[in-house]
Amino acid sequence: MITIENANVLYGKDLEETKANVLIDGNEIVEVSPRVKKGKIINAKGCIVTPSFINSHVHLGDSVAMDLGDGKPIDELIKPPHGLKHRLLKETPPSILIDSIRKSIWDMIHSGTTTFLDFREGGFKGINLLNEAAKDIPIRKIVLGRHESFLNPYEDESKLKKTLDELLSISDGIAPSGLGEITDDHGALIVETCKNQGKLSAIHVAEYQKVQNASLNKTGKSEVRRAIEAGFNILIHLTAPISDDLELVVKNNIPVVTCPRSNGMLAVGIPPIKEMFEAGIKLLLGTDNLMFNSPNMLREMEYALKVTRGFNKDYFPPKEILKMATINAANALKLDLGAVYEGKLADIVIIKQKSADPYLSIINRTESEDIKSLLVDGKLIYNNLPL
Ligand SMILES: [Zn+2]
Repeated sequence: MITIENANVLYGKDLEETKANVLIDGNEIVEVSPRVKKGKIINAKGCIVTPSFINSHVHLGDSVAMDLGDGKPIDELIKPPHGLKHRLLKETPPSILIDSIRKSIWDMIHSGTTTFLDFREGGFKGINLLNEAAKDIPIRKIVLGRHESFLNPYEDESKLKKTLDELLSISDGIAPSGLGEITDDHGALIVETCKNQGKLSAIHVAEYQKVQNASLNKTGKSEVRRAIEAGFNILIHLTAPISDDLELVVKNNIPVVTCPRSNGMLAVGIPPIKEMFEAGIKLLLGTDNLMFNSPNMLREMEYALKVTRGFNKDYFPPKEILKMATINAANALKLDLGAVYEGKLADIVIIKQKSADPYLSIINRTESEDIKSLLVDGKLIYNNLPL
């Protein structure tokens, strides 16, 4: 048993600021109360206890291509199969890819992230490579795979089904790049196969206006409508919604992962976080390609908050940004964590409090060295506080 005492706890599903002790037994939070004190004691005076972060969209494979190709158009950089990143991923020896992915995973842990959802390129090899890289690192990983045969519009459906079954035997779901690269029939088959196996399906949509226009020209429908009609569980980006896209997302209750730093870096826009939040859309947050961004959720939260306020010329609550990186993501990914609450798994980060407002202290002020302790599944991964 571990008790975290004297902390400022962001408690429950609404991250309410509460002075309390937190008792962890095994991998579970069993009590949050002012007096509980059992087992190993961590004195967290002057610190915030918050659910650790969930990076809901990342491409760890790009760790080998950091900051390359800056200034080139987005199609030339990341569009499969000939974008710069895809050429580099193919050319780089597996051992170098594994080393660079491992470094990025440790960067995530050191900035308070304990769960990530990766869009893994490279088919079976790509998935195996990430599984190998993350093998003995204490982090929760959700790996969504894809295969180059998705790009062939004439691929036989029974053959595609066999490929999907094989991919799903080593991954947590499927994530094709976008609807510009696959047919709607293949999209529907991907979703159905994932659903039958209780796995996730996710896809990039409406990352920028040009892909939306291409979708309209080709099918008469937006990317968002096509993804929802196919039945995808999670949509990434939605930076450039058109017509009734947002209403459709609300009606179908589909979580959206926004990646504001990636959109900024690629000069494609600013995701309408405030508009989506006010419409009732479940919002998540991801750092996207390692090529353009560090996988640091603290940086992502700060950019998300400030660009949203600047874009709307209006207030946006910091607590809602923190929820995007914690409880909202846990709920959308059906993980029993993301809140410091009785019965939840103990994935917790303890952070030095640097200002009076705990939410802004995390989002505005926290550097990696302010992260004092990290627990994953009830285990102390590191600790710099008095025991
Ligand atoms: Zn992405």
